Amino acid sequence: MRQNLDYIIFDADDTLWINETFFRETEQKLCKLLEKYSPTDEVMRVLYLKEIQNLEIYGYGIKGFTLSMLETGLEVSNKQITAGEIEQIILLGKEQLTHPVELIDGVKDTLRELSRHYHLAMATKGDLMDQERKLKLSGLSDFFCHIEIMSDKTDAAYRKLLKDLNTTPEKIMMVGNSMKSDILPILKMGGYAVHIPFYTTWIHEMVSDEVEHPKLTVLESIKEIKEVLL
Ligand SMILES: [Mg+2]
Repeated sequence: MRQNLDYIIFDADDTLWINETFFRETEQKLCKLLEKYSPTDEVMRVLYLKEIQNLEIYGYGIKGFTLSMLETGLEVSNKQITAGEIEQIILLGKEQLTHPVELIDGVKDTLRELSRHYHLAMATKGDLMDQERKLKLSGLSDFFCHIEIMSDKTDAAYRKLLKDLNTTPEKIMMVGNSMKSDILPILKMGGYAVHIPFYTTWIHEMVSDEVEHPKLTVLESIKEIKEVLL
């Protein structure tokens, strides 16, 4: 199936490179650090609440996550957390912000091949500096004609992106791991979507129902896109 597409738009975190795994690792370290104050499930419960409450003010990304970890430490310790432990939490955030970029298997070859036949774009949400850093380290920039780092993947943000790309929903395909942020908004607009689930998903990005749609393809690996599009 060779489609008449203006753009194939790729999500980045957990679609092109590993992201959520590092959040899980940091969460585990936080739980270990705070275990003297509270059990793991309570720390995780408070952390998730703080993250959701803070999304509106801090947006997505590691810096906001770090502040949510600090608030969690304050709450579960009943403000008894030590300055040393606060420093440790700040370091956990910095460690994640400087983590090497690890591409998902098959990404580079797939983008190289697709870029010979299609215009590729990247659309990611999150912290601007961190996403720019990861893109640079990924070595993938040259495959994309357009890079969009959005504060959130809302319907309005996607509409603006398509307007900037001078295209219409029927002529784009979005590839991503998040049903909620990458797939559903695009299907709703009338675009094509390829869902490639990552093995772990942040609770906030989960949707409960299985989605079936004539313009939706579900793949296990990005490597399979070539079979759909070339
Ligand atoms: Mg993603």
